[in-house]
Amino acid sequence: MARRKKIYEGKAKTLFEGPEPGTLVQYFKDDATAFNAEKRDVIDGKGVLNNRLSEFFMTGLANIGVPTHFIKRLNMREQLIKSVEIVPLEVIVRNFAAGSFSKRMGVEEGTPMPRPIVEFSYKDDALGDPMVPEEYIIAFGWASQQDLDDIISLALRVNDYLSGVLYGVGIKLVDFKIEIGRIYEGDFPRLIVADEISPDSCRLWDIETGRKLDKDVFRQDLGDLADAYTEVAKRLGVMPSNVTHTPKPTLIN
Ligand code: 5GP
Repeated sequence: MARRKKIYEGKAKTLFEGPEPGTLVQYFKDDATAFNAEKRDVIDGKGVLNNRLSEFFMTGLANIGVPTHFIKRLNMREQLIKSVEIVPLEVIVRNFAAGSFSKRMGVEEGTPMPRPIVEFSYKDDALGDPMVPEEYIIAFGWASQQDLDDIISLALRVNDYLSGVLYGVGIKLVDFKIEIGRIYEGDFPRLIVADEISPDSCRLWDIETGRKLDKDVFRQDLGDLADAYTEVAKRLGVMPSNVTHTPKPTLIN
């Protein structure tokens, strides 16, 4: 059988050539990395959960008119997506202080922001994805001022949607990261939400207990990451409530 062509392999996902021009197959791996891949592990089932959850969020966004790269889920670990030109930025929205913001600004985790804050990092692993001002983005041509206005407006719509959906199942959306892709419709470029939306790229806290249900569980050694993601999936109705994350089979001597 002919092997399909690998287009790109990242830390948590691999992209393969799609069945039609302008499409790609996005494969979700079980690999977890943090601190610019200094900490790594394989978390059984993470790829399956993120595939489902990203499908859920991207479909919901499409339903309210936010354009995304998602076309359809193909199987447990793969989805068909539109091929885009990735804008080399991580677009971060913060509703509450946490992570690098808390460290940089000396603000206690959980402190509400006066309003949702949108910030940008330049996507470059070797540099550790440094935070960049809009001035850099425009001067170096990564995006135009018009693009940035559109990106901020997209990011805030994503924030409103995600915050509402998650609040409805008792989860606080502390912050998240999205990536933006450019597609061409005829000669006209259009910006759409790309990459993934999953607990790998969001901070999600249980509203009642404060329990962390996102990748900080891995970053901070707080327990079983797949259990935390399964909890998010169950609450959103993405997995039947009686499904529990099953551990790897073990050899019995
Ligand atoms: P922070 O800047 O506080 O580390 O991260 C802010 C938010 O963006 C968090 O939800 C975090 O998970 C997400 N984020 C930032 N950088 C990355 C990244 O390189 N990969 C992923 N998956 N998420 C990121």
